Amino acid sequence: MTQPRYADIVLELEPGERRPLLTYGVPAELADRIRLYQAVWVPLRDEVRLGVVASLHEEAPAFAVRPVVGLVEPEFVLTPEQWALAEWLVEETLCTLWEAVALFLPPRLAQRVEVLLRPTGAVPTGRLSPVQRRLLDLLAQRGPLTLEQAQRALGRSLTTALERAVSTGLIERLPIVRPIQRVVSEQFLRPRLDSDPPTDAAQGRAYEIIRRWYEEHDGALLPRRFLHRLGLSPATVQMLVQRGLVEVVELPRGGLPTVQGGPDRPLTLTPEQQQAWEAIRSMFAQDPPRPLLLHGVTGSGKTELYLRAIGECLRRGRQAIVLVPEIALATQVVQRVAARFPGRTVLVHSGLRESERSAVWEAIHQGQAAVVVGPRSALFVPLRSIGLIVIDEEHEAAYKQQEPPPRYHARAVAQRLAELHRAVLLLGSATPDVTTAYAAATGQLVVARLRQRVGPLVVGERGEVARARLQLPRVEVVDMRLEHQLGHAGLFSRALHEAIAAALQRGQQVLLLINRRGSATLVQCRSCGHVEVCPLCDVPLVYHADRRQLICHRCDLRRLPSTTCPTCGRPALSYYGAGTQRVEREVQQRFPQARVLRWDRDVVQRGNDPRSLLQRVLRREVDVIVGTQMVAKGFDFPAVTTVGIVHADTGIYLPDYRAAERTFQLLTQVAGRAGRHLPGGLVVIQTYTPEHYAIRAASRQDYDAFYQEELAFRQRHGYPPFRRLVRLVVRHRDELAGRLASEEMAERLREKARELSARDVEVLGPTPAFVSRIRGLYQWQLLVRGADGPRVVAAIPVHGGWIVDVDPVSLL
Ligand code: ADP
Ligand code: ZN
Repeated sequence: MTQPRYADIVLELEPGERRPLLTYGVPAELADRIRLYQAVWVPLRDEVRLGVVASLHEEAPAFAVRPVVGLVEPEFVLTPEQWALAEWLVEETLCTLWEAVALFLPPRLAQRVEVLLRPTGAVPTGRLSPVQRRLLDLLAQRGPLTLEQAQRALGRSLTTALERAVSTGLIERLPIVRPIQRVVSEQFLRPRLDSDPPTDAAQGRAYEIIRRWYEEHDGALLPRRFLHRLGLSPATVQMLVQRGLVEVVELPRGGLPTVQGGPDRPLTLTPEQQQAWEAIRSMFAQDPPRPLLLHGVTGSGKTELYLRAIGECLRRGRQAIVLVPEIALATQVVQRVAARFPGRTVLVHSGLRESERSAVWEAIHQGQAAVVVGPRSALFVPLRSIGLIVIDEEHEAAYKQQEPPPRYHARAVAQRLAELHRAVLLLGSATPDVTTAYAAATGQLVVARLRQRVGPLVVGERGEVARARLQLPRVEVVDMRLEHQLGHAGLFSRALHEAIAAALQRGQQVLLLINRRGSATLVQCRSCGHVEVCPLCDVPLVYHADRRQLICHRCDLRRLPSTTCPTCGRPALSYYGAGTQRVEREVQQRFPQARVLRWDRDVVQRGNDPRSLLQRVLRREVDVIVGTQMVAKGFDFPAVTTVGIVHADTGIYLPDYRAAERTFQLLTQVAGRAGRHLPGGLVVIQTYTPEHYAIRAASRQDYDAFYQEELAFRQRHGYPPFRRLVRLVVRHRDELAGRLASEEMAERLREKARELSARDVEVLGPTPAFVSRIRGLYQWQLLVRGADGPRVVAAIPVHGGWIVDVDPVSLL
């Protein structure tokens, strides 16, 4: 094959350029090493930039090209699947190719390049300026330096002198990459199964133990520190290593989830789990496999099935990715994956130090790690042959990336990635996203259901061993209108007050949940539950305290607030929000003995690590937890038996088509926190609109009922999954200018839709965004609705000031 002479490189250019490719020459010394999709350093103006090879060819462009500077070391090449996925991200999320490609590069690579100045040794032909002379002398004396180092040494700016010295060939720029710092690693042992067992008796026994361990744990490696636990002598094991019967594998410590209590073993499945497992296992035999939704109530044992699936994937010699929502990194799922597959599991997350992150990445790249656990960004790690992708709590909003672009949804990316690798995709949730459930209902996903919590084994009357049925907690809905009419003011109904009192008396813990979203903007009548809605759009009006106005975020209708309820005529309309602090005070007043822990964003931002808060709860230093959404998810609080939702309506009446869904999910998930270990769990939901379907369904933990009503609502109003949305937001210092810019954009979009005969496309707005001002800037929003929406938006040059969000998970 002839050698490539030119390379088209994708790199970060000016914003707005969607396919930023530049052509460079391939120097002779790189011609047989440079590869397609490889990370390289290229010159751009007077800098060295990171880029990725998009194509290699021999067509000389019509202009002079500069040569590629060098390859990124250690060499890094995107897999063809990764490249295909990047192309797909450009189409689907309307990001730039560079934004998509950059997702796959090792962490903070661009920051690791340093440009050194080095004398070429050429003899100067003309006269040197004094500054050039001093610079050359300095470099001759001290060896290559960065520009900053040289400037510091000479105490002056060198930009002009350097430019001249480079252009006359006296000094060259030499990009180097700062090496990764060493990280602490942990050693693991892997038996070589193809070799003959040792003849020495002690070694034979040791080898046998290591081999058996390996096989019983689905090929997981034995941590060296477990040797003494298994009664193995380090010296004997060392002999096995020397003879090549056992291999030592090193993995970076920072990326290893800490395994508490040692390795764990597969559980015996319940009949229901067994059935779900058959469905999952059969997918591994299909080519291509169909994606699968594991829809199981909280505590039904979904994790055990994830673990089985990972084991199956590893047995087939392939690798697995397990996604958890950002907030759940400290939870049980991570622990259990690590405990089941020690030595093969790494954790990638933003909390790792840079050196740890690079080392984890390198371990994956070298093929040492076969199970990668992490938040959505774990989809972009350099695994060669992905056999399984698990998404736990697939309905979580944390799976959608907002900033920076690409604004992708991990579920959609995982589905595409699974297709490219012909991998099994396993989505798990107790409250699947309505769009996921719809995909399942229309046959795009296979569904396995778990309807029961796994109870403990007990001995029955006739001495037989059976599994006790663990009930879901009892849910009581309190109609706050009645409380109000009966003159019970205050935040807690009588039922909630009594429930708290009873739990405290039994020495159990109470969780009180405040839905922060919407708590400051909902206008509701305390007497009849009436919610102020827009007469034109039927969308709840939002109260903006700073302007003392009610605004419709669909049509921009604005009204002055009143205090009299238009439905019942009583002066009970309230503009309020019960924040966590008010609830905390109320608990302290009513139950002075109780130890209260407030757990919200403010507390966490003041430097309280969620893990230390969790420890305080687990050590029983707390009686009542007053928290926001943050605590509702993922955590397992064994001593919590009673959960109170102080005002369930706040989340429902937000101007977002997903408001009811999010409320249903939150109520169901939080109810799942109650009584996971102790019987008699009780959930009290306080509401002014107990007839709302999200609350009715959540109180019965009836997903199917919720789904039916919600789907009808979505269809009636033309929302996903029936019609696709693209959201465009612009920010402006001046409110009117922002409005005009949005109107102009709306007009252009409408014109483009006509031009492309995209008949189903509508442009809604402009309207003020729900967060109508942010950091002093006014936000205006447009919605493009219809299957062809993304195509229409893509056909218009959208300048950098606009945020474009395809398939937004929130309109707030
Ligand atoms: P989910 O993820 O569905 O909420 P988990 O996977 O956390 O549920 O399981 C709930 C509890 O039940 C865990 O403590 C788990 O160890 C236990 N469990 C699950 N499956 C089994 C089983 N087959 N036998 C015994 N215990 C099980
Ligand atoms: Zn309106």
